[in-house]
Amino acid sequence: MTTPLRANDQSAPPRERRNWKLRPFSAITLRRGPVQYWTAGAIVVAIVAAFLVWRFSPAMALSDTSIAYSEAAQVLSARQVSTLTVTNDGARLLLTLRTPRIVNGREIRTVEALAPARAISLADLERWGASGTIVRVVEPHASTTERLIQLGSLLLVLSLIVGYALHHRGALGTNRFAPSPASRHLTLRDVGGAREAQADLRDVIAYLKSPERFLTMGAHCPKGVLLVGPPGTGKTLLARAVAGEAGCPVIVAAGSDFNEMYVGIGSRRVRQLAKQARDAAPCIVFIDEFDSLGGRRGRPNRSGEEEVTLNQLLVEMDGMASNNGVVWMAATNREDMLDPAVRRPGRFDRVVEVPLPTAADRLEILKIHAARSRLAPDVNLDRLSQLTVGHSGAELANLLNEAAIIAVQDTGDVITNAHVEQARDRILLGRVRSGMVINDQERRLIALHESGHAVVGMVACPEDKLHKITIEPRGRSLGAAHFSPESDRHLHPRHYLEGIIAKALGGRAAELVFLGRDAVTTGAGSDLVQATSIARRMVAEFGMSDTIGLVSADPQAQGGAPSGQLQGEIDTAIRALMTAQATRAEAIVQQHRDAVEALASALVEREVLTAEEAYAIAEAHGVHTGRATTTTESLATA
Ligand code: ATP
Repeated sequence: MTTPLRANDQSAPPRERRNWKLRPFSAITLRRGPVQYWTAGAIVVAIVAAFLVWRFSPAMALSDTSIAYSEAAQVLSARQVSTLTVTNDGARLLLTLRTPRIVNGREIRTVEALAPARAISLADLERWGASGTIVRVVEPHASTTERLIQLGSLLLVLSLIVGYALHHRGALGTNRFAPSPASRHLTLRDVGGAREAQADLRDVIAYLKSPERFLTMGAHCPKGVLLVGPPGTGKTLLARAVAGEAGCPVIVAAGSDFNEMYVGIGSRRVRQLAKQARDAAPCIVFIDEFDSLGGRRGRPNRSGEEEVTLNQLLVEMDGMASNNGVVWMAATNREDMLDPAVRRPGRFDRVVEVPLPTAADRLEILKIHAARSRLAPDVNLDRLSQLTVGHSGAELANLLNEAAIIAVQDTGDVITNAHVEQARDRILLGRVRSGMVINDQERRLIALHESGHAVVGMVACPEDKLHKITIEPRGRSLGAAHFSPESDRHLHPRHYLEGIIAKALGGRAAELVFLGRDAVTTGAGSDLVQATSIARRMVAEFGMSDTIGLVSADPQAQGGAPSGQLQGEIDTAIRALMTAQATRAEAIVQQHRDAVEALASALVEREVLTAEEAYAIAEAHGVHTGRATTTTESLATA
């Protein structure tokens, strides 16, 4: 779970941070204990081993002094050498003289000489051997410099291994799960909407507050609660709020905390977590992104180690008495991915749905977050909640946070409606790319494309209301005609979905009508992706194609791809649906050519058209938009 930079975040899990970079050097002292001794021991062993390798190498020892090869050949021929040691590449000779020499007042018996490449032959060796010299052939050994380099490399490798081991010893050995301190507790008042989920969780709160009441009745509290819902709907927040209401600590973990490449680490962490929970009981253990821990066993991409970790979790849950005061909570967006064993009674047997918020829920959430912000009176939260259909709690919090950041950058003391509008545009459409240069011809082309979307959308999909049209380059797009639903909808009729496809193809339709077949551009790429995806679901999942009929070809739901024949028929039906809506979009643009032209000209001139302005222009050119004339898209209070 990731949340963007928040101005008013009070729900982030408390974590002790060790920032070594910020500590003065003098403050970093070696700790006494097993890690220190282990390190020191490893370094000493490495140095001793390196020295022994260097000193007692079977290779030839260094001679006391060096002589020229010619002199060596001479003393050998003169039978003055008792022992000759030669490397098997013939490059080095070590000669032990029968009569010692005096060099610098020292008696020298062993001398060394370097021989030219291929200068010494077998015949030479045999000759010297026959003349009474004992000839020994040895492996070549490294020179002093080479030895030093080898020693250095050995030490470097050893220190790297030691460092790596120490690093991972710290990472793997420490306990990463800690109960949150009481000061960070949230309550259900911090959670907007999610009424059914809150109701479902009340008996967990009651149990954690006074488990003896449950014990007397012989009742068992659900041991595991699974929170299921789209991202950002407040599942983590709910778990923390339940703990806060019950006045007990919560231990937060993420499913990915248990995935390590080292064998046994995952199950070890599960045991650590369970021990922490038993020590802190009564408490809640919350595991976020649970699908990565509790995923279906036996799946092709699941490792044996992950399965062992999951088994360990199940064992720990089974091993805990049902009234020992530990409630396991887990959150996932992918309930279908979970292993059936996880959902067995006595494990995560209570499923609490946390859906996307309704309009009333959104208002509550906005009010909760607005209470921490300084909003100007012109911000109408009621209207904002209606304009944010499909937004999760996290997105709403992010919207107000973005507005707060914009207000700070604006050096204002309050967040105004204009800041909220800007934040909404930034989130929906992306940040304005002010440095991008677009020539006049392209500006007109983009304006025509977006006007095509707008007019086809007004006519073919009147259920969604235009929010604004812009040809400002933002994020990855060069322009946008942004529509949003006016109210929450739970079912989508076929004509609405067809309208959305036609709207998506309206940009290409405008290019075709105004510029001709050869001048169409790449601008429709993402429109085609969106339209095809809806068409595919209509045909293959929702039974909305007359030729395919009532059959589901959803590979996930059906456990595999449909047959080749059915897939071919689906593709044909999708193409037919897309072609029909493309023809419809083209016809609408032809019919309302003047309106598209007028909108495009206004866009080229003003760059951004509000919904009010766009509807007024379209209606003035004969488009029946089907909207009440009093409708306003502004977030401001009337
Ligand atoms: P994910 O599934 O991605 O892990 P989640 O469902 O666990 O997400 P949270 O982490 O609980 O979502 O929510 C993120 C933030 O969004 C919260 O810290 C909170 O600020 C805000 N938020 C989400 N839902 C609500 C809500 N119902 N009421 C108030 N704030 C909410």
